[in-house]
Amino acid sequence: MIIGAIEAGGTKFICGVGNEEGEILDRISFPTETPEETIQQAVAYFKDTGAMAIGIGSFGPLNMDLSSPLYGHVTTTPKRGWAGFDFVGYVKRHFPVPVGFDTDVNAAAFGEVKWGAAQGLDSCVYYTIGTGVGVGVYAEGKLVHGLVHPEGGHVLTRRHPGDDFEGLCPYHGDCLEGLAAGPAIEKRWGVKGSALPADHSAWEIEAYYLGQAIAGVILLLSPKRVILGGGVMHQEQLFPLIRREVRQALNGYVSAPEILESMDAYIVPPGLGDNAGLCGALALGIKALQEA
Ligand code: ADP
Ligand code: ZN
Repeated sequence: MIIGAIEAGGTKFICGVGNEEGEILDRISFPTETPEETIQQAVAYFKDTGAMAIGIGSFGPLNMDLSSPLYGHVTTTPKRGWAGFDFVGYVKRHFPVPVGFDTDVNAAAFGEVKWGAAQGLDSCVYYTIGTGVGVGVYAEGKLVHGLVHPEGGHVLTRRHPGDDFEGLCPYHGDCLEGLAAGPAIEKRWGVKGSALPADHSAWEIEAYYLGQAIAGVILLLSPKRVILGGGVMHQEQLFPLIRREVRQALNGYVSAPEILESMDAYIVPPGLGDNAGLCGALALGIKALQEA
């Protein structure tokens, strides 16, 4: 059985097809332009694949309210042409098959639960630290949406005493995304994060912010695993620094062995690597087919 998957990112679209085992059999990638240009390429890709369902993990914000006439729309993004775009409706008009739809980070969390680092668990939190910071939440065996959907990239954190960077978030300035996403690292230091050495003080500051936010999420949601993906997390030295910050922030209060004894297995990279988003979209497609 062939299922289609779309990982719709703010800078690039990845389309692929896969099977029920989570294997991606083929994929293409192209830049995210206006919705019409971009979706037409996706439609052309899926045309002859015989996909029986399509799963979409998209940048947002999104309308995820099944009872709303605007379900499946992108809502308030500043990305040109995308605000108000009826993503699910457009795909359904071209392919009369079940369509699964969620945020890119909820999709990644779902992919990790099915086939990755949170396999078999009934809860996990998935962070992406890339062009922005996003958080996907899976709890009690379901993806969490709530009023809109989790937006954990925009939480406020305590300032690192050595950091006077004003922050880049157009809404909040120095929220987590404004201080810790890839573009913030680049603006603060004047070079891309990938060009900074592993022992640069940038990573202490980065871990300070991420560790605090993750400690807050552990206190609030009590996830059974925390997965950290996205371009910035290719800096593997961040993992031990972040675990240390989380441990310090919690200070022994959360008395679970996962946190007190085996943090290395608790705060982890995606088991699916950079495929988490596309596999997650595949998983959403499979779920949509099962529920149809
Ligand atoms: P997106 O968030 O757009 O889906 P990525 O997750 O690849 O894409 O994130 C891109 C951001 O991550 C950019 O700001 C880039 O500078 C940063 N980045 C990519 N690779 C690295 C790296 N090896 N080290 C540090 N930062 C990186
Ligand atoms: Zn913000």
